[in-house]
Amino acid sequence: MSEPRKLYVKSFGCQMNVYDSRRMADTLAPQGYVEIAAADDADLVILNTCHIREKAAEKVYSELGRVRRLKEAAAADGRRVIVAVAGCVAQAEGEEIIRRAPAVDLVFGPQSYHRLPELLARAARAGKAVDTEFPIDDKFDHLAAPTWEATRARGVCAFVTVQEGCDRFCTFCVVPYTRGAEMSRPAAKIIAEIEHLAAAGVREITLIGQNVNAYHGAGPDGRPWSLARLLHRVAEIDRIARLRYTTSHPGDMGDELIAAHRDLPALMPQLHLPVQSGSDRILAAMNRRHTRADYLDIVRRLRAARSDLALTSDFIVGFPGETESDFAATLDLVEQVGFAGAFSFKYSPRPGTPGAEMADQVDEAAKAERLQRLQAAIDRASAAFNRRCLHRTLDVLFERAGRHGGQLVGRSPYLQPVQVAAPAALIGEIVPVTISEIASNSLFGTLAANAARDMARHVERPFVGAGA
Ligand code: SF4
Repeated sequence: MSEPRKLYVKSFGCQMNVYDSRRMADTLAPQGYVEIAAADDADLVILNTCHIREKAAEKVYSELGRVRRLKEAAAADGRRVIVAVAGCVAQAEGEEIIRRAPAVDLVFGPQSYHRLPELLARAARAGKAVDTEFPIDDKFDHLAAPTWEATRARGVCAFVTVQEGCDRFCTFCVVPYTRGAEMSRPAAKIIAEIEHLAAAGVREITLIGQNVNAYHGAGPDGRPWSLARLLHRVAEIDRIARLRYTTSHPGDMGDELIAAHRDLPALMPQLHLPVQSGSDRILAAMNRRHTRADYLDIVRRLRAARSDLALTSDFIVGFPGETESDFAATLDLVEQVGFAGAFSFKYSPRPGTPGAEMADQVDEAAKAERLQRLQAAIDRASAAFNRRCLHRTLDVLFERAGRHGGQLVGRSPYLQPVQVAAPAALIGEIVPVTISEIASNSLFGTLAANAARDMARHVERPFVGAGA
């Protein structure tokens, strides 16, 4: 039997890239590749890149400098390392990557990773290969399913891509260019994938997509299904106890989806709903196609459906033309909504997007100063949300061992990390925990009295997952 080949995949950016990286590993497993945790011994290194954050391409090139040194050291030992760049930077930069970083053997975009075995063979034959096409065939139809062992090793929470691409063309965003037009997977294929995950012990599913709430995949009844309909169906799958979805656009937050937050107990009371700015003038310049009042109205309706909803968001500060009064409107929105948390970034122009061509770019010092003020406001809101959890008993899904012996780490319904002294047999179980302390956005707690009583039963019958 030949030696397994070692694969190292480094993911940058969002959960979609983490999911894609796993599917790449699944696709290469039948070719004899096993995934390893560090690049040093790898035969194949894949950088799965993200173009959303500032200076994304430059970060990839600096990482490629490290990989080149690794490749040279391996060559000195008579070993060939193949270097591949995948994801959105690969899609945007294409052949330029090989021109600037000749150590790279293969460049492929997010729509091509199901063709990895063929692309690697092409790179081996021709020396180099680049594939940044948007093929008409559905890559999900060609992907190998993860093995039962691989699924188990990845833990009790899983991401499942249901939708890709975006047709909204916000003026700051590269996604419509790098991921292409919006595409929803058929519901039956998503359900089959989640049934496979559930059989291997997964308890929590996060449905993901660049604009996930625009989901409109074909249903088994031949009609398009909404995300709400899909969530209701996934909630029926045995052992799936928790559902989430991300990332959503306010414009696609319809009544049916809002009602699901009221009607579907498995849907966790947590939602990431990017707003980007609190100023109507800037929202219009961003081509968001919603106003501040629209956003606040959605928040009101969501909270009417689920009063304890933990809302998080994304903000861009210093978008072209943003004045101090536009920024004040953003700060005011943060105060009004009371977010449980938010990501915030200084605007940085992405080549090829309309925002990059806008004349009235904001100077860097003003952006930095506004970002600091915004982050302080978000931190205050987030701390206030966490404080409200103190001394409450929350259901925690235990995911893995903590850093200290005898400690487990899990997530509350609101997605907060919670650390508890508890036996490893509780991994995969949802257990009531009384929150006793909060430190740097982590909650600490103790098993609630009834959970402690039940513990002996769990220890006698450790969680092994269905199918074991
Ligand atoms: S909706 Fe989201 S993914 Fe689509 S263009 Fe706007 S920011 Fe990008």
